[in-house]
Amino acid sequence: MTKNHHYDTIIIGGGITATALFFTLAKYTNLNRVAMFEKYSDIATLNSHESSNSQTLHCGDIETNYTLEKAKEVKKAASMLDNYTKLYNLRDRVIFKFNKMALAVGDQEISYMKNRFEEFKNLYPYMEYWTKEQLAEIEPQLVNQREENISAMGARDSYCAINYSEVAKSFVKNAKDLKDNFDVYLNEEVINIEKKGNLYVITTLHDTYFANFVVVNAGAHSMLFAHKLGYAKELSCIPIGGSFYYTKEKVINSKIYTVQNPKLPFAAVHGDPDISNGLVRFGPTALVLPKLERYKHNHFIEFLQSLSPDTNTLKVFYDLLVDDDIRNYMAKNFLYEVPGIRRRLFAKEIQKIIPSMRSDDIEFAENVGGLRPQIIDKVQKKLIFSDGKITTNEPILFNVTPSPGATSCLKSAMLDSKLITKFLDKKFDEKRFNKELVTKNQEELEVA
Ligand SMILES: Cc1cc2nc3c(=O)[nH]c(=O)nc-3n(C[C@H](O)[C@H](O)[C@H](O)COP(=O)(O)OP(=O)(O)OC[C@H]3O[C@@H](n4cnc5c(N)ncnc54)[C@H](O)[C@@H]3O)c2cc1C
Repeated sequence: MTKNHHYDTIIIGGGITATALFFTLAKYTNLNRVAMFEKYSDIATLNSHESSNSQTLHCGDIETNYTLEKAKEVKKAASMLDNYTKLYNLRDRVIFKFNKMALAVGDQEISYMKNRFEEFKNLYPYMEYWTKEQLAEIEPQLVNQREENISAMGARDSYCAINYSEVAKSFVKNAKDLKDNFDVYLNEEVINIEKKGNLYVITTLHDTYFANFVVVNAGAHSMLFAHKLGYAKELSCIPIGGSFYYTKEKVINSKIYTVQNPKLPFAAVHGDPDISNGLVRFGPTALVLPKLERYKHNHFIEFLQSLSPDTNTLKVFYDLLVDDDIRNYMAKNFLYEVPGIRRRLFAKEIQKIIPSMRSDDIEFAENVGGLRPQIIDKVQKKLIFSDGKITTNEPILFNVTPSPGATSCLKSAMLDSKLITKFLDKKFDEKRFNKELVTKNQEELEVA
């Protein structure tokens, strides 16, 4: 073993989850030798890429799938990333201000939204309740050609749109500025992980490396590695692809979320100004795909291995299919991908937000969108919507996908840093982490 190939910790993957950990270990721990391996030629080219996700910093204020308790957690996680962008002067460079809202359509949703506003207003004192008349001024297209009543809870000029690939790159730069032996290997796919004595042996396409602790942050591939090493056999992973549609005109200037079906968190359509190109996107759709990466070559065998189908998995699928709401949702979303009919069908979906929308006003966003690895608990026979963190009694852990996605990358990094430093008998400066990224500016986030 060459000394240069031996690291305190090796991180597999180079998306937002991996890079947030790389940064946190550099800045808030006394670990000196850490390596990160990314199989592609750049950081954050898959789900963390700016074109793959909805670019939303989820604070829990406009996402109606959260209970008050869950919203508190989500807000705290989001504040870490928000504070990071302030600490490194990244505001208006990677994170941008827009109005944002959760829209209620029709009397039933309006009554729900009124109650939700009352329940959540102390947690989010900057949120306002907007009537149809107020919405006509804020976003005129919401009321154009609309007969039914609408309302919304929302915030003006909030730092809510974020470029996660740029954040990931900044994490790497800031980590490398702090520590010499924090190494990033690009084009270096990890093909095997094996425990030998006290060390993990990491085999890549080109070489062999050794680690005292390993964190697998490889998106949908994380479950595969966990299964290969004998962990999380009770879990399986089903990849859900998400696509978007662009509108030809810039019809809205706000992030507009709609009321979610509690059975299908994050499934309701929303509209987002795209910070990469100035267009407006609607989506995402949701379609089960037999692959682990959205627009890369197929990984069908790996898909089957991470799904590890058995009677319990089939039971989960059966339960989903017998539920009318879920079956209809799956069927609709399949059709949203079918050329020839998809624009007409999806325009109808968007009409909940913009009633005047027609199929000619939108186009399918080619090569935009990503893939969410949805975890299934085969023992409890149900979908799991909480953090996809698989910890073990050994110095290895796996993040399949954190919840809510990229927003919680620093929270995930903090939890992992605590585990790593405890196991390796090193130090995590939690006080400084909290001072810089958690408590500081919490008030400002609320009025942002
Ligand atoms: C349609 C859609 C919309 C979304 N919208 C939002 C949103 O608005 N806000 C939000 O917070 N979240 C959102 N998410 C979720 C968010 O995008 C993901 O949770 C997040 O990007 C996951 O980051 P990651 O680093 O865990 O995974 P990824 O970004 O997928 O990174 C995994 C990395 O591991 C690398 N890798 C894989 N296997 C290997 C290997 N063997 N060796 C080396 N490297 C490997 C890959 O190349 C990749 O770079 C959305 C997701 C989708 C699909």
